[in-house]
Amino acid sequence: MKYVWAVASHQGRVRANNQDTPYPASSGTAEGVRAVVAVADGMGGAAGGEVASATAMQAAVAADGTVTNRIGSANAAVFSEARRQPELAGMGTTITLAVLEPDGSTTIGHVGDSRAYLIRDKTLEQLTNDHTIVSEWVAIGAISPEDAKIHPRRGMLTRSVGVAPQVEVDELHLSLQPDDRLILCSDGLSGMISDDAIRSIGGSGTVEAAAWALVEAANQAGGHDNITVVVVDVES
Ligand code: MG
Repeated sequence: MKYVWAVASHQGRVRANNQDTPYPASSGTAEGVRAVVAVADGMGGAAGGEVASATAMQAAVAADGTVTNRIGSANAAVFSEARRQPELAGMGTTITLAVLEPDGSTTIGHVGDSRAYLIRDKTLEQLTNDHTIVSEWVAIGAISPEDAKIHPRRGMLTRSVGVAPQVEVDELHLSLQPDDRLILCSDGLSGMISDDAIRSIGGSGTVEAAAWALVEAANQAGGHDNITVVVVDVES
């Protein structure tokens, strides 16, 4: 397989800075070698969020082994940095990280409410489950998915990287095929526009055009949060 990706990240229209960290930092391609793509969305006052997402990403990319090992390394790095610097106490981050092998076999590791989507045959599938209180309420039928999208507590995470000595990681396995498109994003995208908009806008044009069109759509919808998108095309 050949992987072709584009990266778009924007602070949005409300936030003063961008606490999301994408990986890689810029667009590129990989053929015959493993590719790693990821999104992290940091949280924590002052500089905490930026430090958390950047620290987690650096550790996760540098680590070897399974995606669970990589995110475990990220967790340890953020947790120890927060203990070292009192002004960073309590910082944490989401991370959604995909390891794409040359044969199409793919593993995704995930903690938090950033998301991975797959577009295959013009159909959008959300691959990851959000680790939020409202998504747990949706799962037990306490509130509807529509109410969850606007619920005031929708941003409250049940799991994040770096806030405790250990973190539980969701690990997903899938086999990518030519013409598949993978989209990773922070909640600044998925919280602002519908899945149907992500499918139509994110499924059109080149990876570069799609990534920036998604950012633009989230900003048009209000841009309430930092917006980060990584779009990956799978070619034979
Ligand atoms: Mg966010």
